Amino acid sequence: MEKIVMTTPLVEMDGDEMTRILWKLIKDELLSPFIELKTEYYDLGLEHRNETDDKVTFDSAYATKKYGVAVKCATITPNAARVEEYNLKEMWKSPNGTIRAILDGTVFRTPIIVKGIEPCVRNWEKPITIARHAYGDVYKASEMKIPGPGKVELVYTAADGSTDSVLVHEFDGPGIVQGMHNLTGSIESFARSCFNYAIDTKQTLWFASKDTISKKYDHTFKDIFQEIFDAEYKEKFDELGIEYFYTLIDDAVARVMKSKGGFIWACKNYDGDVMSDMLSSAFGSLAMMTSVLVSPEGYYEYEAAHGTVQRHYYKHLKGEETSTNPVATIFAWTGALRKRGELDGIAELSEFADKLEKATIDTIEGGQMTKDLALITSMKDVTVLNTENFIKAIRTTLEAM
Ligand code: NAP
Ligand code: MG
Repeated sequence: MEKIVMTTPLVEMDGDEMTRILWKLIKDELLSPFIELKTEYYDLGLEHRNETDDKVTFDSAYATKKYGVAVKCATITPNAARVEEYNLKEMWKSPNGTIRAILDGTVFRTPIIVKGIEPCVRNWEKPITIARHAYGDVYKASEMKIPGPGKVELVYTAADGSTDSVLVHEFDGPGIVQGMHNLTGSIESFARSCFNYAIDTKQTLWFASKDTISKKYDHTFKDIFQEIFDAEYKEKFDELGIEYFYTLIDDAVARVMKSKGGFIWACKNYDGDVMSDMLSSAFGSLAMMTSVLVSPEGYYEYEAAHGTVQRHYYKHLKGEETSTNPVATIFAWTGALRKRGELDGIAELSEFADKLEKATIDTIEGGQMTKDLALITSMKDVTVLNTENFIKAIRTTLEAM
């Protein structure tokens, strides 16, 4: 069989611990035998980030801007324990945070649906994708404890020195106060990323906030989405037969529960944080959740939603057997390869991505899976495979196809 040839390199961001082991297995067993893989390789493993003073992370993000599509392995976000473990020069920042700041994107998270692993909500037949705004609000808020009676005001001082203010509250006893913000530019980018992704995946887009109560703050989000939609996207949505609609957050929650799935739900930062955890656990497992960062200019970075699975890695280092689920990492690769195929007009590459995804799902539906899935499946008599053998089982399914 001739291998599929690529024309533009994928930006490949390698990572840490157990997912780094998965990364190599996936490339060796599922990709390289079928594709003449063309990647520009960046080693985001913590040791190499430390050696390069984290320059490699920045370079990988700039390369994503150059080529348009990246695939990323999970990486360690250092904390005090990691600084010691890896003898780090500094507590380097989260690579995801660095990359997101450079690409200015929105993260879309979608569960991978498999028969035999049913969502807790029985009427969810199709995946629900969460788009979380990744800037501002309560995550960049300033807070104060108010010790006793007194007045709190919000004051804006313009560049020319003129001021405007609004009363927050006249306290007659102790209390608390919080000031938060967002940026028009960031909300506009968020809206465009959501509309682009809806078009890309041909799915209806919902956006919800609490504009009836927050008449300036949340209402601005609502207005920006509507203005950009009407001016730039409405025609394309009509053409594709998909919809954009805005509703109140409480109405959205109620509707989601009654829905069949198959749409994108755009959330403000805090709502997205909460709702994405609810959806991933209701759909089954973090190991069955894909994640893609989409920039408003149309750059894509695909990854798994879970971390580096540290506990399994330490077992692996001790020579013990692991049964780590590679599905989300496989789907990060297929997402990136399919997008590369679309952009470069290489149909076989996109078809290969579809086939590998199908082979992965068929393998699980055929009763072969990793331990985490065996624990939650409704299937009887399943075979639990170790990390390597599960990937080999997918290869067998793929070759048969
Ligand atoms: P984690 O890697 O998400 O794993 C937490 C637990 O979830 C695992 O111990 C395992 O449970 C289960 N799990 C997650 N992925 C799995 C998979 N593919 N197959 C089977 N089980 C899976 O989180 P963590 O261990 O708390 O974090 C490790 C490192 O990941 C941290 O240094 C953190 O900074 C980093 N992290 C990176 C990213 C990213 O790069 N996107 C995201 C989150 C965290 P059992 O142990 O019960 O089997
Ligand atoms: Mg959370």
